[in-house]
Amino acid sequence: MPDTDSTLIDGRALAAEVREEVQQAVAEHLDAGPRPPALRVILANDSAASASYVRGKEKAAAEAGIDAETLRFDPEEVTEDELLGTLARLNSDDEVDGILVQLPLPDRIDEEKVIQAIAPAKDVDGFHPQNTGRLMTGADGFVPATPAGIMEMLRRSEVDIEGAHAVIVGRSNLVGRPLANLLLHRDANATVTVCHSRTRALGQHTRTADILVSAVGRAGLISGDMVKAGACVIDVGINRVDDDTRERGYRLVGDVDFDAARKRASQITPVPGGVGPMTIAMLLKNTLKAAVGRLSERET
Ligand code: NDP
Repeated sequence: MPDTDSTLIDGRALAAEVREEVQQAVAEHLDAGPRPPALRVILANDSAASASYVRGKEKAAAEAGIDAETLRFDPEEVTEDELLGTLARLNSDDEVDGILVQLPLPDRIDEEKVIQAIAPAKDVDGFHPQNTGRLMTGADGFVPATPAGIMEMLRRSEVDIEGAHAVIVGRSNLVGRPLANLLLHRDANATVTVCHSRTRALGQHTRTADILVSAVGRAGLISGDMVKAGACVIDVGINRVDDDTRERGYRLVGDVDFDAARKRASQITPVPGGVGPMTIAMLLKNTLKAAVGRLSERET
């Protein structure tokens, strides 16, 4: 049992490593191909969080040498047909490698239908059912950036995944489910338990985790005594808690009681500065993968 604070998994530093590798590979891709990888983002909501994510993606893409452009639609005016038409155009545009639809979409638009209209070979978010199916069977495809980033963090932090008991709290299509699949793949070989809002006695499960991932969105859900001594803790949650000492009146925390968990865990991710930066880095990696895949397809 660790008697000192656990090692911090520094998401910003790991993401910087990935971004540098992508930048290098983009330069090599440019030597082989006619233009930089091109990403098109569709933004049709007015949420401040989405706007901030999209700005982050644009900035990171530009730094990596990726040509990223956001197509903005008025959330009050945009129609499903307009989005489907735009996707059809982007799908057949040879100058576009990756397409990402920033969720959520306005309520009147069928999100499923829009996601299914993205060409699977350009679906860098990995939400198209064809990519979801590939992930499930272990075939090559696009993996959603957050769970892909978590796997990358575990590997780069030399966490022993093989044979470990991984407990994931949260079963969303965005994080929990794809992560469970990745951890089960034969190149990872974890034993996986997935918990959710109907799980009884959550702590009994989390206390058996060698790798504990919380992806819920509830501050303080995972208390220190729910963490097994020596576990690796990955906190995906992003929650605002009131904080009068901050100019904006709040601060961001994860789902895990960080100070308490840090005393028990062997390694732990902070919030902010953990999973978040890695998510953007993996999106860049997916965009590069789309560009490289399409280039080699053209050459054969
Ligand atoms: P969802 O709301 O889609 O899923 C939340 C999951 O948590 C559900 O499976 C839900 O169970 C489960 N849950 C809710 N309450 C409890 C509880 N009391 N005990 C156990 N499980 C519970 O969220 P997302 O997966 O989209 O996101 C989760 C969190 O991760 C959010 O804070 C989000 O902001 C953050 N996030 C961070 C990212 C990053 O890059 N850092 C990227 C994506 C998300 P049920 O299925 O039964 O409803």
